[in-house]
Amino acid sequence: MTDIDTHQTTDLNGLDPGRFRDWSCDQDFCVTCALCSSACPVSGIDDFDPRKLVRMTALGMEDEIVEARWPWICTMCGKCENLCPMDIHIPAMVRRIRGLRDRDAVPGILHKGLEAAMQSGNNLGLPREDFVFILEDVAEEVAEEPGFEGFKVPIDKKGANLLTTIHNKLVNTHTEDLKHWWKIFHAAGEDWTVSSVNWEGTNWGYFTGDDERMKVMVDRIVEQMERLEVKNLMWPE
Ligand code: SF4
Ligand code: SF4
Repeated sequence: MTDIDTHQTTDLNGLDPGRFRDWSCDQDFCVTCALCSSACPVSGIDDFDPRKLVRMTALGMEDEIVEARWPWICTMCGKCENLCPMDIHIPAMVRRIRGLRDRDAVPGILHKGLEAAMQSGNNLGLPREDFVFILEDVAEEVAEEPGFEGFKVPIDKKGANLLTTIHNKLVNTHTEDLKHWWKIFHAAGEDWTVSSVNWEGTNWGYFTGDDERMKVMVDRIVEQMERLEVKNLMWPE
């Protein structure tokens, strides 16, 4: 990825201002007030500035914004959008820019994890039996704690009130965090379940601007809700 030199001058004659006009982000209405920049929690990191990204998009600087690291610094928090007097949809714009990037050039493990999820149902490529083993193992540890005697993890419980997805790191490096969730469910008397397949709770398709794969992930969760006859979903990421 490239850093943008914010001090360079740009030849306006070589730009294509209409390039992204069909997007519904309304970037052309920007009045350069910089309220977005002042609200943005990551403004200044590697010279990132949402106002400049909006201007570059309005000017159709496709190569520069697609290759830049800037769109990947944004956390999608939406603070800029809430303050923008022109109602410009900056997080949506950032997602559109990310979606233009070649999938193999998506930073970090995001695309690789998503590819694994397409194949296996989760970003780790974890087989069903390994997933169930990990959950049951953690449940045994919970059951050893005072107040949780007899605790069992309700996998694939039909007719439960709530289905929860699970972020893959909770069955990988952060199993202690599973316990926190389960103890809250237990204390609240919640009737909950987790699916043994397609349980992945990350939104990396959404985050990387890959709407097609995100739709696959959402469809799979809906399928599990229908299979288990659960009406409520908790997708905590
Ligand atoms: S807050 Fe809105 S109008 Fe102001 S600079 Fe940012 S995008 Fe432009
Ligand atoms: S959505 Fe992105 S650009 Fe907007 S305030 Fe949050 S981090 Fe900054």
